[in-house]
Formats: sequence, C-alpha cells, structure tokens
Amino acid sequence: KIPDHRPVIRQLDEAAINRIAAGEVVERPASAVKELVENAVDAGATRIEVVVADGGRSLIRVTDDGCGIAEPDLPLALSRHATSKIDGTDLLNIHSFGFRGEALPSLGAVGRLTITSRVPGEGAAMIAVAGGRADPVRPAALNAGTVVELRDLFYATPARLKFLRTDRAEAQAVTDVVKRLAMAEPFVAFSLRDETSGQSREVFRVSSETGDLFGALHGRLRAVLGREFSENAVPVDAIREGVHLTGYAALPTYSRGAAVSQYLFVNGRPVRDKLLIGALRGAYHDFLSRDRHPAAALFVDLDPHLVDVNVHPAKSEVRFRDPGLVRGLIVSGLRHALAEAGHRASTTVGT
Ligand code: ADP
Ligand code: MG
Repeated sequence: KIPDHRPVIRQLDEAAINRIAAGEVVERPASAVKELVENAVDAGATRIEVVVADGGRSLIRVTDDGCGIAEPDLPLALSRHATSKIDGTDLLNIHSFGFRGEALPSLGAVGRLTITSRVPGEGAAMIAVAGGRADPVRPAALNAGTVVELRDLFYATPARLKFLRTDRAEAQAVTDVVKRLAMAEPFVAFSLRDETSGQSREVFRVSSETGDLFGALHGRLRAVLGREFSENAVPVDAIREGVHLTGYAALPTYSRGAAVSQYLFVNGRPVRDKLLIGALRGAYHDFLSRDRHPAAALFVDLDPHLVDVNVHPAKSEVRFRDPGLVRGLIVSGLRHALAEAGHRASTTVGT
C-alpha cells in the first residue's frame, strides 16, 4: 500500500545515531564494563580498578594506569568511528580489543559519561564530558592514566532500563566479564569493588602474574577459577595446521548443571562463540549426560587472518575461515586429554 504522505528521508542527528548504535554495543551494565576494561587493557594498563554500584546501573567507574589520552584527542575519543587502534586498511590483522571506535560515544549517549585522563609525564590531566553537542574539556586532578565514569546508565533510554534484571544478576554479569578479561590478561592486576549505598565491598582481586606467558596464564586461571577447578582439570595442548589449542578441561565428574564454567578465548579475546561451545559439548559427548555441562578454559590461537572478529558490535562471536578445522582440533584435543587422564586415574587406582 502506498502511504498517503510521501515519506521524507532525512539524516539523523549525531545523538540519535549514537543512541541507536548503543543498542547493539551496550546491552547491559556488564557490556559497558567490558568495553571500558578492554580500553584500559588496550592502553597498556598494568592495573585496572572497576567500581560499580547498584549492579552498574547507577555507577560504573574504571580506572587504569595506561597511556592516557592527550588533550586534543579527548573530544575525538568521544566521537563516532574515531579510534587510535587501526588505520582501516587491514580489518583482519587486529591485535587490540577495540577497533570500531564506537564504545565511548555509545556509552556517552545512554549514560552520563566523563573521562578524566593524563598522559604520563605530560602537563595537566583533562576531563571531558559526553552528551549534548559540546564535549567541553577542562583541567582535572589525576596522576597518570585514565578514569572513565559512567553514571545512570540507560537514563536516556528507559525502554532498555526495563529489560535489566535484578541488581544482583547485573552485578553477577559484571563480575563474570571482569573475570573473563582477567583470565585473558594475566600480567594485569584487576580489582572489582561494589559501592552500592556508599558501602565499599571487594568482589574480586588478582595481582599481576609474573614469568612466561604460559606460566602466567596458568597461574591466573588458578587465581580466578579456584583450587577446586584446577585440581579437577587436565591440561590441554594440541596443534593442527597452525591452530593452537591450550588451556584446561575439567574432568566429567566436575561438570555442572548449567553452562556457567565455560571460558573460551580466541586470540586472547573472551568469546561466546556457538561453534566453540558446540565443539566443547561434542568433545564431552561420550563422557557426560545431556543435562550436564562441561567446565573448561580454552584458548584458541591462530593467525588473525584466519578469523574475523568483526561479526558483531560486541565482538563476542567470531567467524573462522575453516570452522571444521577448529572444531576437529577441539574435539580431538579434549578427548585425548580426557582419555589420558582417565587412563592415568585407572592405572593409579589399579596399583
Ligand atoms: P575503540 O576502542 O574501538 O578504539 P572506543 O570508543 O572504545 O573505541 O575508544 C576510542 C578511543 O579512545 C580509543 O581508540 C583510544 O584511543 C581512546 N581511549 C579509550 N579509552 C582509553 C583508555 N582507558 N586509555 C587510553 N585511551 C583510551
Ligand atoms: Mg574500545
């Protein structure tokens, strides 16, 4: 049916564009925390502090000791599609968490965002406030690094507020995000505090690991997942056609009723990829009943040209050039590791 009034095409203004984009990038407080912590890691921080209140709804504050943002760049950091991380020529060769230049403008469109930053060794710290058309930059007090504060998330998009779960559930999702990033970045110290109603409570803390990457990843996994997981898991180490699989797979006896203990990383990026989750399930197929979920922390590392991380704005899904290869590697690598463990266990029991 032809409409009575001829539709008019017009360009949306920047605020509306940012709010629409935010719908994809910022689903809940945990997604905001993820974006801000990833930015801190990308900035080379060695120490990252996260503070939330009311499940992240009223306050999210991420403080880092990274490279900071120079004064002239501050307004740019808040504008769309502005990034210091790629030049746009090779979208597969990405080594940073970020590259889309969307997080800060999106967060600024759906909450009250302020960035305070100081480049180490440079003059004054500066503060920028997102929202409205102007992003005023003025002097502030800060030693070095960056503090991003996000208050009243989704105040500008009440529909989204209604979809949030309880503060407790949102806080749990925030903790999960911080833990996953902490597992991926063993040389960075992390802390997460809850400051609901002005009462400060430490939720999570890990100090930075030392030594080589393998040892550090191992140490961090133990620190985050706890002794029980470590003592019930077997190491996984397999390689096929340049794709490397490492990590830990829990024994079938340590399986869970829900798929909460599945930590999957592709080139150091925490993901929730269907292919990987399916492969994990497939590997345990003979060992677990259908209602049980395997627990594992697995790192898949491969040439960045063989995987596309730019599938979804939140970058939690990836697309492999050769999905069959990755799936096969996971299934066979895990089965091998579990069979070895079973074999060892039965011979120990027998003697
Ligand atoms: P992206 O991470 O995709 O580049 P963002 O919107 O998350 O996009 O950030 C925009 C830019 O702001 C980044 O490219 C970076 O230069 C700068 N930036 C953001 N957060 C920090 C931080 N914590 N420390 C230093 N620079 C930052
Ligand atoms: Mg970013």
